[in-house]
Amino acid sequence: MAVFSIAHLYPDLLNLYGDRGNLLCLQQRMRWYGHDCRIKNIHLGDSLDYPGLDMLFMGGGSDREQGLVYQDLVKRSDSLLKVIEEGMPVLCICGAYQLLGNNYMALDGRLMQGLKFFNFTTRAGTDRLIGNILIKACLGGQETTVVGFENHAGRTYFEDDSLEAFGEVLRGYGNNGEDKKEGIKYRHLIGTYLHGPLLPKNPVVADFFLKTMAQRKGIELSCRLDDAIELTAHEQMKNRLL
Ligand code: GLN
Repeated sequence: MAVFSIAHLYPDLLNLYGDRGNLLCLQQRMRWYGHDCRIKNIHLGDSLDYPGLDMLFMGGGSDREQGLVYQDLVKRSDSLLKVIEEGMPVLCICGAYQLLGNNYMALDGRLMQGLKFFNFTTRAGTDRLIGNILIKACLGGQETTVVGFENHAGRTYFEDDSLEAFGEVLRGYGNNGEDKKEGIKYRHLIGTYLHGPLLPKNPVVADFFLKTMAQRKGIELSCRLDDAIELTAHEQMKNRLL
C-alpha cells in the first residue's frame, strides 16, 4: 500500500460551494484503490514540501480572499511553476483558477495581479454567471462530459490561441459566457469554474488525477471501482441540462 499526499492550499480562505468535497472524494477513491491518501492543510506562510506531495488543490474564494492568497502565492511562484511543468496534478477552482492568469480587474476598476503562469486575463462583469454547467472534455484520450456548478463575476479571456481549455461549454457560461471555452488544461493542471463539488459527480475527472498521482510513483491503479451512484448523479444533472 502506497501513501499519497495532497496539499490543500488555504483551506480557510479558498473553499466555496463544497470545494473541499473534491479532496474527500480523491481520498476515499484512493482508499478504494487500496492506497492511503493524506490531506495536508497549507495556510498563509506555511512551507510546501514538494517532494512529499503528489497533488495540489486550491478552491474558490471571493475577490478579497484572492488578494490575500496572491501575496503568499507570488513568493512561491517559481517553485509552483516548476512542479506544474514537471507534471504534478493540480486542481484550481474559480478564484484560484483566475489567479493563474495575468490579472483580475474588479468591478470598481481595481487591477489585481495574477501569477502570470498562463496568458489569460479576467475582468468582473456587472452580473454574476451562476448555475449548473455541462461541458465536454477530453482527459487521458477519453472524451467525457463534466457537470458542475458555477458562480463567478469574473469573465476569463485567453490572450493566446495556444492555450487549451479544460472543455467546451454545452450548457452554462464557462470562462466568459461567449466563446464556449471552460477552464484551462495544461499538463496535469486543470483550472476550472466548476465548483460543485466537481469530482464526486465526475469520477472520470477524479481518476485523471488519481491515476496521474499513481503513475508518477510507478504504480498502476488496476482495479475498477463501481461508479454506479456517481454516474447516476452525473447523468441526472446532464439530462436536466440538456
Ligand atoms: N472572485 C471571483 C469571481 O467572482 C471568484 C469567485 C469564486 O471563486 N467563486 O469571479
